[in-house]
Amino acid sequence: MTDPILPPDSQPASFQSLISQEINSTQATSQNIDPSNLNSATTTATSNDAIIAQMRVLIDALKTHNNAYYVLDNPVLEDNEYDQLRLSLIKIEEAYPDLVQPDSPINQVGDVPLSAFTQVTHDTLMLSLGNVFEYDDLRDFMRRVNDRLSVAQQNPEYEMELKLDGLAVSLKYERGQFVQAVTRGDGQTGEDITQNTKTIRNLPLWLAAAADTPLLEVRGEVLMPKAGFERLNRLAEENDNKTFANPRNAAAGSLRQLDPSVAASRPLAFYAYSINQGLPETIDTQSAALAWIKDIGFTVSAVEIVQNPRAAQAYYESVIEQRGALPFEIDGTVIKVNSLVLQQQLGFLSREPRWATAYKFPAETVMTRLQSIEWQVGRTGQITPVGKLEPVKVGGVTVSNVTLHNFGEIQRLDVRAGDMVSVHRAGDVIPKVTRVWHDQRPADSEPVTLPPCCPVCNSPVVLPEDEALARCTGGLFCPAQQQEALIHFVSRRAMDIDGLGERWLIGFFNHGLVKTVADIYQLHQHYEALITLEKLGEKSVQNIITAIEASKHTTLARFIYALGIRGVGETTAQNLAQQFGDLDVLMAADIEALLLTPDVGTITAELAYKFFRAPHNIEVITALREAGVHWDKVKQKVSANLPLDGQTWVITGALASMARDEAKAKLQALGAKVSGSISAKTTVLLAGEKAGSKMAKAEKLGVKVVGEEEFLALLENS
Ligand code: NAD
Repeated sequence: MTDPILPPDSQPASFQSLISQEINSTQATSQNIDPSNLNSATTTATSNDAIIAQMRVLIDALKTHNNAYYVLDNPVLEDNEYDQLRLSLIKIEEAYPDLVQPDSPINQVGDVPLSAFTQVTHDTLMLSLGNVFEYDDLRDFMRRVNDRLSVAQQNPEYEMELKLDGLAVSLKYERGQFVQAVTRGDGQTGEDITQNTKTIRNLPLWLAAAADTPLLEVRGEVLMPKAGFERLNRLAEENDNKTFANPRNAAAGSLRQLDPSVAASRPLAFYAYSINQGLPETIDTQSAALAWIKDIGFTVSAVEIVQNPRAAQAYYESVIEQRGALPFEIDGTVIKVNSLVLQQQLGFLSREPRWATAYKFPAETVMTRLQSIEWQVGRTGQITPVGKLEPVKVGGVTVSNVTLHNFGEIQRLDVRAGDMVSVHRAGDVIPKVTRVWHDQRPADSEPVTLPPCCPVCNSPVVLPEDEALARCTGGLFCPAQQQEALIHFVSRRAMDIDGLGERWLIGFFNHGLVKTVADIYQLHQHYEALITLEKLGEKSVQNIITAIEASKHTTLARFIYALGIRGVGETTAQNLAQQFGDLDVLMAADIEALLLTPDVGTITAELAYKFFRAPHNIEVITALREAGVHWDKVKQKVSANLPLDGQTWVITGALASMARDEAKAKLQALGAKVSGSISAKTTVLLAGEKAGSKMAKAEKLGVKVVGEEEFLALLENS
């Protein structure tokens, strides 16, 4: 639904959802907001009253969240959730400038300083920064700078720094002696935190180089390094004390302690980023100023000079890569016009300078609406719920699906179609719902129920007791399970049919060319049909047929795994191959015999037993063998006589002579267990080229390390 009041490109969903008041009700200034009222207001009226009403709702919510963040150091929203809320108000204000409310917090910096501290008026305003999130916005920022410069000044040099995620502080030194520290506060007035600041270990209390300077004002960020923050929160948890939401709030909360001994116990650090008064006149760039600040005894962060948007983007991307390895949190980079003369000329606009902006990292938690919940059917019939989202950019990519895992998770989250949800995505982690905004729930929403029938084949769905996953009972009658079974069959660790990717396979399935895995080996008979399929040329078809042919020679373990028997993963398949040595013997085995296999419990034994008795499965296996699928005779180990019996090996790095999977299979054939992680129980670490952290760990634990040559010699002699 498009909101008639908001400008077309703003998102009404985000707007409403962010007006959450989960802070205790005495702080809340708009706790009686009912989103449905807002809806009705917006559908009928574009009158000034309705617009002002919407503005007031947002203003009150922003004030509440500002107070929680800046004054109480205890935010309720994620930063970008707060930013979305702020953006909603900015958009309305831009569309209706005449109606801007006098107490709008948009142009305000921070919040009212805490009255428990002496209040100090800054000599010059302490500003915030504007921000951009995308390359195009960065270019716009640079264009806006150019627009204000003369022809001769166009395309100035820029300096880039890390955007430290702490709190801004102004420090004063008189003739080199530290005399005062003040928080940014509302930009005009801050809190005197001199005593607490003195306890920061890397903050110089005496500057020899400034002994002749009557007044030096240094501005910068106080932050808490990640390790110290984690230690502090761990301690707080152990003592049942309140933990801090993030290092920024922990730093702010520590500096604003009334008892300086508490601040002294907190691991804080100060990073300087500007000299506001007392800079030597010979210094005329931001980068030279930072170099000087460093020389006289302050800590500063990395600096990069860039001449154009592309170089700025490259630096920003390199910082994203290094972000995790930094000892403190950053939330982006800051780009500044390097010339101090040009900075002066460009000036500032209400709360932010025109000559600098923050280029922030993509938001990792974003609010959006869960439009619907769909049920997907997996290879073994598991029915999993997938949330369909109103598409939203999170962690730098557009996300429109989110996994909800299983029915139990839906109940735990108490989530419904139509709910506003917070979606988190960091790095390559699969996006997930971290919060459901129950107070924004549409009045007509319905609780989620498990579908009684499979959405694909309509067979009954069951949720066995003690199991989290519901299942379709259709078995291989269910097309969804058929497709998933095909994809599993050709996968690398199964029959490894390289070149027959998922896309083609599903295409063949949809054209009726393959139904069961056995049909894959008859595809050559459909050569003509295949080459006429969309975008699939003769060469690709030839490659696919060759790959299928090559896959006919496999191992029994791979074949068993490829069959996709529920509960039979790769290791169990290997154990079954070892135990029975022959497919016919395995197929004829009763439950008791199956149970003798290492790793096989009652459930898996029963599932395997039933699998080999289903006529359909027998038919498919027969067809596969008739088509030529075969394997070498299994070398069964005579127990206790294998050379590596009882040993646990770990493989790391790249081997020149074989793939890691092959090395693993060879070690297992010699009786070793092969594990993915190293521990005191590991017998040997097989280290190939570029062995990483596992090598260091092995050395630390005194685990024997074997190189590739030694390993090959062992294979040869065993
Ligand atoms: P900001 O943090 O976006 O940027 C301005 C600040 O960046 C400066 O004041 C300075 O302290 C700092 N900074 C760090 N490195 C710098 C460098 N190298 N050079 C210059 N400055 C540097 O602005 P803000 O006004 O302090 O706060 C806005 C932020 O606070 C937003 O991210 C917002 O989401 C968050 N906030 C969150 C909530 C919430 O409820 N979660 C509430 C209010 C504000």
